[in-house]
Amino acid sequence: MLTTFLLLVAPVLAPNQGPIPSNGEGDLSGIEEIRADRIRADLFFFADDAMRGRDTPSPEQRIAARYLRARLERLGFTPGAGASFFFEYALARKKVDPERSFLGLSGPGGTERLVFGEDYFISSSRYAGDGSFSGPVRFLGEASKEACEAASLPGAWGVTVDDGGSILRRARNAERSGASGLIVLTDPASGLDPFPVRFRKTTELAKSGVSSPRIGARSKRAFFPVYYLSKTGTEALLAAAGSADLAGLASGLDLRVESEQVGDEETVLEDVCALWPGSDPRLRDEVLIVSAHYDHVGVRDGEIYNGADDNGSGSMGLLAIAEALAARGPLRRSVMLVWVSGEEKGLWGSAAWTEAPTLPAGTQAICDLNIDMIGRNAPDHLLITPTRDHPASNWLSRLVTRLSPLEGFPRLGSADEYWARSDHMNFSQNLKIPVAFLFSGEHEDYHRPTDTPDKIDCDKVARVARLVFRVLVNLQGDTLPS
Ligand SMILES: [Zn+2]
Repeated sequence: MLTTFLLLVAPVLAPNQGPIPSNGEGDLSGIEEIRADRIRADLFFFADDAMRGRDTPSPEQRIAARYLRARLERLGFTPGAGASFFFEYALARKKVDPERSFLGLSGPGGTERLVFGEDYFISSSRYAGDGSFSGPVRFLGEASKEACEAASLPGAWGVTVDDGGSILRRARNAERSGASGLIVLTDPASGLDPFPVRFRKTTELAKSGVSSPRIGARSKRAFFPVYYLSKTGTEALLAAAGSADLAGLASGLDLRVESEQVGDEETVLEDVCALWPGSDPRLRDEVLIVSAHYDHVGVRDGEIYNGADDNGSGSMGLLAIAEALAARGPLRRSVMLVWVSGEEKGLWGSAAWTEAPTLPAGTQAICDLNIDMIGRNAPDHLLITPTRDHPASNWLSRLVTRLSPLEGFPRLGSADEYWARSDHMNFSQNLKIPVAFLFSGEHEDYHRPTDTPDKIDCDKVARVARLVFRVLVNLQGDTLPS
């Protein structure tokens, strides 16, 4: 489970699937393979200290992926990513090159070269863009909308002074008026020098390297640089302008910024994908997806975050579902099991997979049932999103809700507030398919080193896995529910 809301995304409404099924509850053979004692044995391996929290990326995460692959191969699953069980995506690491990044000023008072991390700072590592920008400087006062419009900003740099007002609003005004970027000065009259402290972390991060996955279609906001000048940077700017104070900034000062990032490594990350091909010549082209993230947050300050519930529980529950399918034999429709990585970093693995899904040629994804943190809290406590009240409510979530009492969950609670917090969101948004998310709630060990396997209710994990299996079996009629 991802810690914070990334962004609020409008839910995608499930397409209407047409007329109603006449499904019975189906043949449940194979379900007896889903057993709490087996799940416990798997979980004590998967969430052991030796796995060091399965961070993305880490050597232990690669071991976890190979453990899953070995088990799936033994069970007779088909590789779910072409010829491989591993869907690979790249993690690129880029850092600001201080040798080739600087902010240069030239004006009536001479030229000055400002040093990144000493004379100027950025407020977010997102602002560490690549490029070369130059242009005249325009002093904007408080950078109001009117001031920005009046300043003939296209191709120029706006300058404002930090006085506690919203820099975000000023940057937006300057950007809308066509400025190349915004320079925020330290107020020379204040005697204070707050930026080196305020932006120390983001600057260090930009220098040491920021990792982000190469995910193609993800929309990126246009880069609008905002640079904060420390006391020394502000003094240098005034010196280049040949001015003793801000009033003298009116004309003749040009600014040039060179910002260069270098890539220092690229790591391959893996989702584990296993296909259970259907038996019906027509229906096997319809693929039911079940997903769980297998990563956790690794080691912090020397403490191992085992992630037994988050998401050892869902990962091992999914493996138990694989065992049940193997015992059962093919269903009429195909089933794709996907263990994704990078969930804790920002739903990376599901974003990458759903942008280039490895579905066999001629097949299409029908739905995704995602399980994340299913082994804690009261035995009958289980949450779902979307609920009936959620705009993305769909036939899958209604079916899960209808079947849940059969496994000891008489009434599913709402996980609607977690809609954007786990991988189902990417399946909904990118594949435009109905999704459902099962989750047994947060607890005092959530994202702590104390989320250990001894605290997991493996009987509960088994019952959630059995509920998922019942859903799969129930979806074998000629038509899907509506
Ligand atoms: Zn988590």
